[in-house]
Amino acid sequence: MPSLYIDGAWTAGSGGVADVVNPFDGSVVETVDQAGPDDVERAVAAARAAFDTGPWRTTTVAERSALLHRVADLLQRDKERIAHTETLDTGKTLRESRIDVDDVTAVFRYYADLVAAQSAGRLVDTGQPAVVSRVVHEPVGVCVLITPWNYPLLQLSWKVAPALAAGNTCVIKPSEVTPLTSVQLVELLAEAGTPPGVVNILLGTGPAVGAPLTSHDDVDMVSFTGGLATGQAIIRASAATVKRVAVELGGKNPNLVFADADLEAAVDGALTAVFLHSGQVCSAGARLIVESSLHDEFVAELARRAELIRPGNGLTEDVEVGPLVSAAHLAKIEGFVESATAEGATLVTGGRRPDDPELAGGFFYLPTIFTDVRRDMRVVREETFGPILTVERFETEAEAIELGNDTEYGLSGGVWTSDAGRAERVSAALRHGTVWVNDFGPYLPGAEWGGFKRSGNGRELGPTGLAEYQEHKHIWHNTAPSPMRWFREE
Ligand code: NAD
Repeated sequence: MPSLYIDGAWTAGSGGVADVVNPFDGSVVETVDQAGPDDVERAVAAARAAFDTGPWRTTTVAERSALLHRVADLLQRDKERIAHTETLDTGKTLRESRIDVDDVTAVFRYYADLVAAQSAGRLVDTGQPAVVSRVVHEPVGVCVLITPWNYPLLQLSWKVAPALAAGNTCVIKPSEVTPLTSVQLVELLAEAGTPPGVVNILLGTGPAVGAPLTSHDDVDMVSFTGGLATGQAIIRASAATVKRVAVELGGKNPNLVFADADLEAAVDGALTAVFLHSGQVCSAGARLIVESSLHDEFVAELARRAELIRPGNGLTEDVEVGPLVSAAHLAKIEGFVESATAEGATLVTGGRRPDDPELAGGFFYLPTIFTDVRRDMRVVREETFGPILTVERFETEAEAIELGNDTEYGLSGGVWTSDAGRAERVSAALRHGTVWVNDFGPYLPGAEWGGFKRSGNGRELGPTGLAEYQEHKHIWHNTAPSPMRWFREE
């Protein structure tokens, strides 16, 4: 089947084809079509026409809500097929992929219910009985949705569900590395009854397909999740046409452990925070900051547990962690380990690829822990997006906070302590969009997700995740007009 969906029809496009690679063994999962410049034009024109003159903008909230619920039903119907594809494409374990499909289903249901419950607008008191003033929600228009490779289906759902709930039309550009489940989701959106032109999907690279979309005259909004440098390029590209731009970028997320924390839970939490999905998580707790008195005991137990993590084929049920997504990403991780070693960090465990010959064809890298790191080291400052944990020490609460905020990013952070007062003080002081206390990683469809500082300028999920895709229009209605006589009449 062709891989691009434009104006209600599946089409091959004019940009040739590209292989999608299974990171477990480097084999080709599927060869997919790539969009050419004319496909970009056709997709934007279809989304524009569907918004300007099509039936979508005037659908009732109840109709859009029902459609999103149908998509949620279809996701559950096809859960195993989609989860299987996500694992082949990203390498993550089937267990995680199944959880992703359930989470995505919950996001569609959340926005279906939220938009149905949202009031049609707000009345504002004019002080004049004959004048009615109201503020109503309207869709923004044509939205370009650009997503990364680490949570392909999940990240797309955080955008497409609220965008459609609000009445927008979309052009989706998934990561060229992992496009398969995004195509499957578009199939389900079509099956659920989305009219032609409302949802379009283009496959291809960032420079070839993403860039022309972000500077296009007929695009009203770009919602982007990905790396900092790409986000900066997208903000620049969208400036000429003054688009609405929401960017969700990287993180270098501190995980602060105080000596009074529940040790067993904190070690387990710190391990999952950084090694889940081989650390390829924007909110990964890759920067562990431990109270000095606990440091040695904590690191020893963490290393013991890290060495037990079982890597392998994500499709095999008892495997705990898959490979990195690509050969290029593996090379980047190896570069970070070399730089950390060269800068004087102490390697506690990992720091190489696994010995198992059965994993030699995949992009595997062992869970890696560095101590004796300084905050000016590259491995501490930059997002590695891989299975690398650095461990720093602190003596006082103030020092822990200062270290936790010493990053250009501000996506998430963790605090482990049994002192409730300290937990509240530290979580209030951390300049990060999400703070977990005695936990690390959970999120909720109803709670806003996004970054402070260079981790982004938007919010996804929660009511704000819907408001991102809405204009707020003020309508002033004078029901008894009479001349104002501001200017002379003769
Ligand atoms: P990336 O920035 O390389 O690519 C992301 C997407 O942008 C891809 O679809 C890519 O094709 C496209 N793109 C690349 N150049 C472009 C351009 N010039 N114009 C338009 N589009 C372009 O990121 P990645 O490597 O796919 O993903 C990893 C990054 O994503 C990490 O930094 C991670 O922290 C971040 N991320 C953030 C969140 C969050 O919620 N904040 C969630 C997941 C991932």
